[in-house]
Amino acid sequence: MPDTPPTSILQYDDTDEYRPEPAPPPRVPAWQDGSIRIGIHTSIAGDIVGALEIAQRLGANALQIFSTSPRMWPRGGGARIAAADATRFKARRDELGLGPLVVHANYLINLATPDRVLRVRSIQAFHDEIVRCLDLGADFLVVHPGSVRDGDRKRGVLDLAEALRQASRGLKLGTLRILLENTAGQGGVLGWRMEELAALLDACPELPLGACIDTAHLLAAGYEIHTAEGLEQTLQRIEQTVGLRRVHVVHINDSRVPLGARVDRHQHIGKGHIGLKAFKRILNHPVLAAANATEDGRGMVRRAFILETPIDKPGDDLRNVRALWSLVGGMPVGIAAAVPRKVKTPWEKKRAKGGVARKRSKKTRRSRKSRK
Ligand SMILES: [Zn+2]
Ligand SMILES: [Zn+2]
Repeated sequence: MPDTPPTSILQYDDTDEYRPEPAPPPRVPAWQDGSIRIGIHTSIAGDIVGALEIAQRLGANALQIFSTSPRMWPRGGGARIAAADATRFKARRDELGLGPLVVHANYLINLATPDRVLRVRSIQAFHDEIVRCLDLGADFLVVHPGSVRDGDRKRGVLDLAEALRQASRGLKLGTLRILLENTAGQGGVLGWRMEELAALLDACPELPLGACIDTAHLLAAGYEIHTAEGLEQTLQRIEQTVGLRRVHVVHINDSRVPLGARVDRHQHIGKGHIGLKAFKRILNHPVLAAANATEDGRGMVRRAFILETPIDKPGDDLRNVRALWSLVGGMPVGIAAAVPRKVKTPWEKKRAKGGVARKRSKKTRRSRKSRK
């Protein structure tokens, strides 16, 4: 057998090389356009997609939700959002251009507790919160830092950091950021002083953490944000401790209780101890209202201002959203177009239904007459 002729030496032709199509860079979400973001906490009762529709009808362009019942421990197995619901939610949110999407964690979660049973439960529940945020494509997950019954705050800070690590173990957080919220300072809660909130953030540098600052909590904790001078001092304090670049969301709530009361009571915008003038200063403050480039440098974002005001009577939510827009120069035309002149409350819907019944009965009477 002759040897294989030397001509069979393979020639390398670089056009033969397999080149996978480069993955297109993910689209910049519509909300990362540098525009003012005013949001409100909306209910997911009934259908999670409904929360998006409510936010839009109220004239908000951002929103906050609970991803599960906020005052109950989830009963086993129900941790995930059904895939079909998550897909519908993400598609509809994209259509409406709502963002950021903030998820507020369950109130029962206490990641700093010295109680072992509560701690294990809290870590599991917070893990599930993260999973649901990833299901929904949420941008931020807000959680209260928790409280220490025994008064050992230093241990509480370290325990919280360890609990956050454990809860996020094995999960790829992607663009999701966990925000620790400042508190009003009731009981043994952590994070009502900015120095402590900063310590909490610093205790866990390996996780994508940030801060959510609540105006009602600031006032209750003794920060004088209701005066022009006090606001400047408070912002300086935040900058020197937490750092304003770490503040991604501001909860805009008026306070039912005065300066330094150390309890958490939200009030309608302009009806509490902070007042309309102060909110105008807060919403338009160059430091708080500035637009910043996103981490990947492709979008522009502003801090979202999210309402968590009470609904004492029908229409309070719409009035509070309108109040915020009026302080920043009015509701943008595109957003105003989506807001019905009057939002129907469940009670009004019922009455409207009754009206339909009356009309029908008139018609019936008429048809009876015509038959005679
Ligand atoms: Zn809040
Ligand atoms: Zn609060």
